[in-house]
Amino acid sequence: MPTQPVPSSGRHIRDILRDRERSFSFEFFPPKTAAGADNLWRVITEDLAPLDPAFVSVTYGAGGSTRENTIEIVRRIAAETAITPMAHLTTVLAGREEIRQVIAELAAAGVHNILALRGDPPRDMPDYDRSADEFAYAADLVEFIHAHPAADFCVGVAAFPERHPLATDLDTDVRNFVAKVKAGADFAITQMFFEAHHYWRYRDLADQYGMPAEVPIIPGIMPVTNVSQVQRIAQLSGADFPQWLYDRLVAAGDDPDAVQRAGVEAATELCHELLEGGAPGIHFYTLNKSPATREIHANLNT
Ligand SMILES: Cc1cc2nc3c(=O)[nH]c(=O)nc-3n(C[C@H](O)[C@H](O)[C@H](O)COP(=O)(O)OP(=O)(O)OC[C@H]3O[C@@H](n4cnc5c(N)ncnc54)[C@H](O)[C@@H]3O)c2cc1C
Repeated sequence: MPTQPVPSSGRHIRDILRDRERSFSFEFFPPKTAAGADNLWRVITEDLAPLDPAFVSVTYGAGGSTRENTIEIVRRIAAETAITPMAHLTTVLAGREEIRQVIAELAAAGVHNILALRGDPPRDMPDYDRSADEFAYAADLVEFIHAHPAADFCVGVAAFPERHPLATDLDTDVRNFVAKVKAGADFAITQMFFEAHHYWRYRDLADQYGMPAEVPIIPGIMPVTNVSQVQRIAQLSGADFPQWLYDRLVAAGDDPDAVQRAGVEAATELCHELLEGGAPGIHFYTLNKSPATREIHANLNT
């Protein structure tokens, strides 16, 4: 007998988070090739689904460049798996009409969770003038999604423990973050960071500025499996890549397996510290790969 596709629960992430003592979730980006897409589908359904993720999320390429791909991947996850998908959505380079349309497509696809972001202009548009954007900040998108007639969405937002790269100072950035949450966010996911103190300081500041107690801030963690790659990503995102971590990875030598082992060990220690200290879960930046994430998950559950 042919197997029936398992319908997605289509649940709101805020309800899933409330039900779980701690959550593990995974982030992917839309691949550019058919082979990449096949690989991603295998990673999601065979490698990571057995870890029972609270949700998985799919990024939205700079300036909306992966719009169709992002929607297609979350649609497929919702239709063919029991995992709850979340689509990232950015407003840079997009007008209200386009965003309204994307929200309608997500609702029609059975996707009820959106990470609302302002986004960055593509790197080949360094002179892009944001003042022409119809949405000034992510908070405007949060409100826009809730006002959309298509569906009742659960909305997440981004948090930057080491402050957003364009923010003048951390305090101002955290105040803007709390205002964004109060515009209607149900949870937040942080930019990657490599030392727990960044997260505690951010969480404490957010509390100080009136963060609603029921809105979790989930740490986003990128396991280092390739030193130069993650160092470059960290630099682009404004995260501090500490010297001690660099030294520890370099000490692993030229053997990629030894580097990965050292990266997994360091990320496991960070996740342990965060969870022990009361973080609500871990969101893994997987870069569409599963081994490091699976190993860290196993380490945290033994
Ligand atoms: C978890 C996560 C996932 C991401 N996924 C993607 C993705 O899929 N695609 C993508 O292109 N990018 C993604 N990004 C990157 C993100 O889009 C960029 O970092 C972007 O520059 C900031 O987005 P934001 O939603 O935080 O913006 P905002 O919340 O709008 O903040 C941007 C800046 O504006 C300031 N600000 C906010 N409100 C105000 C106000 N009222 N007045 C004055 N200043 C204000 C903030 O302090 C900050 O400096 C992601 C980031 C994270 C942390």
